[in-house]
Amino acid sequence: MANILFNQVYKRFGKYKEIAVSDFNLTVEDTEFIVLVGPSGCGKSTTLRMLAGLEDVSDGEIYIGDKLVNDIPPKDRDISMVFQNYALYPNMSVYENIAFGLRLRKLPKHEIDLAVKRAARVLEIENFLNRKPRELSGGQRQRVALGRAIVRTPQVFLMDEPLSNLDAKLRVQMRSEIINLHRKIEVTTIYVTHDQIEAMTMGDRVVVMNRGIIQQVDSPEMIYNKPVNMFVANFIGNPPMNFIKGKLQERDGELQFYTNRFDLTIPPAQASTLRSLHMIDREIILGIRPEHISFEPHRIEASSKSLVTGVLQFNEFVGSDRYYHIDIKQDRRLVIRANEGIRCDDGSLVTAAINMDKALFFHKDTEMLLT
Ligand code: ATP
Repeated sequence: MANILFNQVYKRFGKYKEIAVSDFNLTVEDTEFIVLVGPSGCGKSTTLRMLAGLEDVSDGEIYIGDKLVNDIPPKDRDISMVFQNYALYPNMSVYENIAFGLRLRKLPKHEIDLAVKRAARVLEIENFLNRKPRELSGGQRQRVALGRAIVRTPQVFLMDEPLSNLDAKLRVQMRSEIINLHRKIEVTTIYVTHDQIEAMTMGDRVVVMNRGIIQQVDSPEMIYNKPVNMFVANFIGNPPMNFIKGKLQERDGELQFYTNRFDLTIPPAQASTLRSLHMIDREIILGIRPEHISFEPHRIEASSKSLVTGVLQFNEFVGSDRYYHIDIKQDRRLVIRANEGIRCDDGSLVTAAINMDKALFFHKDTEMLLT
């Protein structure tokens, strides 16, 4: 088992030297479960493939333990990898599929048998060992693919979107199975996904990437509550964070965020940070998550300074909650997440109260979090 270090790693592809991964720096601790997440094409798989030795590193260094692995062939890196297309051998039984890698390594037969049975026990597929892959469900096949990876204890596990071929229910089930598996075998694991729920529920830490660049490395809670920039704030969370453009102004000793439709009073702690950053009289972006806006369907007088009025355009039923889409200006929409049970007709004038203690403020040009 081992920690992993990426030191200023770059990957450039093709004759135009397009940068797929740029200045990637990361230390993964021994036994940690870390998740790389980001939109399609952001460089997650390329990063994983460089670690596995399936892609060359254009620049920089990758260490597994204290060993520089840049020039070490994949088979000597002591890594097991599970892919999205878990391609089992169709003519082999489950047992033979799991045993395959160990046979290649010419392990004695009884050792292979012990290892296959141990992996099958952990994954609860002992009863399927004689079946062919076509005689299994998608989830069972996925477990066989995991079995192939855990049949020996490598230094590192790499998983590249292993659940994306499964239906929603099975994905949820397999998520917790992989986490339980990790708790049992405690091998350093890097998991790649574009699914923010998977990232947030599985990772000890989450690495958010965009266009080949790490945006933030943090615990799921920090990523959600203190996103370093508007990209992370928008990418993580569903429905996404609301952003409102406005200006800051001192008025009667208080700091106000104002637009041409409404004013909001900024709480003292955030106000003092914004003052110290010289943001007064400048344009700024306010970010607020849909669950931090409460809904007052029957009050339309905007007396308090944290109230916003608008027209309810439509609402979406999502079980325990509803998402309410409110036009606060012709081109500006606010999404509120509120308990199912609030009754309000589409098209009616409504009042929303923004919890300003939860508001985040971003720089208009750099899009970085200010406070
Ligand atoms: P996805 O979620 O869609 O799998 P990803 O985040 O894993 O995306 P990568 O597969 O790492 O993204 O790709 C990163 C960038 O590198 C993309 O712009 C992609 O087009 C480019 N790329 C990947 N592999 C190659 C290759 N073999 N040759 C040229 N460009 C490549």
